[in-house]
Amino acid sequence: MAYSYEAPVSQTLFDRASLVTPGGVNSPVRAFRAVGGTPRFMVSGTGPYLTDADGREYVDLVCSWGPMILGHAHPEVTAAVQDAVARGTSFGTPGEGEVALAEEIVARIEPVEQVRLVSSGTEATMSAIRLARGFTGRAKVVKFAGCYHGHVDALLAAAGSGVATFGLPDTPGVTGAQAGDTIVLPYNDLEAVRAAFAAQPDEIACVITEASPGNMGVVPPLDGFNAGLKEICAAHGALYISDEVMTGFRTSKAGWYGIDGVRPDLMTFGKVMGGGFPAAAFGGRADVMAHLAPAGPVYQAGTLSGNPVATAAGLAQLRLLDDAAYEKVDAVSAELRSLVGEAFTKAGVAHRVSAASNMFSVFFTEEPVRDYEDAKKQEAFRFTAFFHSMLEQGVYLPPSAFESWFVSTAHDQRALERIAAALPAAARAASEATA
Ligand code: PLP
Repeated sequence: MAYSYEAPVSQTLFDRASLVTPGGVNSPVRAFRAVGGTPRFMVSGTGPYLTDADGREYVDLVCSWGPMILGHAHPEVTAAVQDAVARGTSFGTPGEGEVALAEEIVARIEPVEQVRLVSSGTEATMSAIRLARGFTGRAKVVKFAGCYHGHVDALLAAAGSGVATFGLPDTPGVTGAQAGDTIVLPYNDLEAVRAAFAAQPDEIACVITEASPGNMGVVPPLDGFNAGLKEICAAHGALYISDEVMTGFRTSKAGWYGIDGVRPDLMTFGKVMGGGFPAAAFGGRADVMAHLAPAGPVYQAGTLSGNPVATAAGLAQLRLLDDAAYEKVDAVSAELRSLVGEAFTKAGVAHRVSAASNMFSVFFTEEPVRDYEDAKKQEAFRFTAFFHSMLEQGVYLPPSAFESWFVSTAHDQRALERIAAALPAAARAASEATA
């Protein structure tokens, strides 16, 4: 596909990056491989806008893949960071910021009685699974096809977006032993979960699921799915782990738990709680968390865990996320969804706008999408044309049809009008696209 516009400075940076970094990026989905073209190197962000190295401004619908729920460079978060930096950036000792952030998480999310801070969502899920195995004395882990839980060896099987984007069924480097205790089941299928437990009673340590998946596109749990998982786990002495790295503090004040009220044994968090810095967490039942070192025998640690700058950013962001903030994000998302739906309908493009609270994505199909197999049936080639038209018109979308779009409290009417103005041509491009 030829692109009618250029990004010479980004191209130069990408060429330089490609010499010193595999694929030119530090996280695969940033590379535009699913959509083609040159990834944009961003130099600054303000509110709902990003500016690239060529000086072009974009309305940002990625929001750093979720964290920037208040928009970029929010003055109060920036001030908290500056204040923290001035006092020193890492001590390797406990500090008050960690306590305050942990207290904020515990106060917001009732099933979290204790929490441990880490630096990435991957670390959070990896540690939660180790803890579940240590607590139950069992080895096997159930995950769902299309759910991504970070690049944890044992969880890189049928792992959604990044992996879906590259069409890798699996990844070299993960040994049979590392993946051998992972049972991958179709999402939204409680019968499959019951059958797995029936076949391996007393062997399954935990079921881990995205609280509401956003890594195969947005595919919300069917009514009763999460409650069913919880019930089956409880009946078999396994732990129910809800991965809220993406949904946590985004889909409501208490994340997806605030929406479905299903009480997990363990939960994982990241993205929004770090305010744009590397901070993540896992937590849950106090009797389970008591097994974690130094209180208990399950080892887990981190040089930069609870870093004072990251915790200051996260705390400042969470404290700004009151009911009014969520109402704003939900309203922006609803307006945008209706604009997007209208544009595709007008252009005669078969589509579904699939939402879970304020997270949403577009599937290029009219069929229901309940799991990863359904998601893969969409006409993803239409997304490529749509993406590039939007990019050319100054709207930055996730560069894959299998990713959630994210909005923020900073997306105001001006930003929405810019998106609205870009949509008709982009929807036409999608309608004219060929496989
Ligand atoms: N879990 C979920 C649901 C995610 O969406 C992600 C990242 O996108 C992760 C875990 C991994 O988080 P990180 O990229 O911070 O390691």
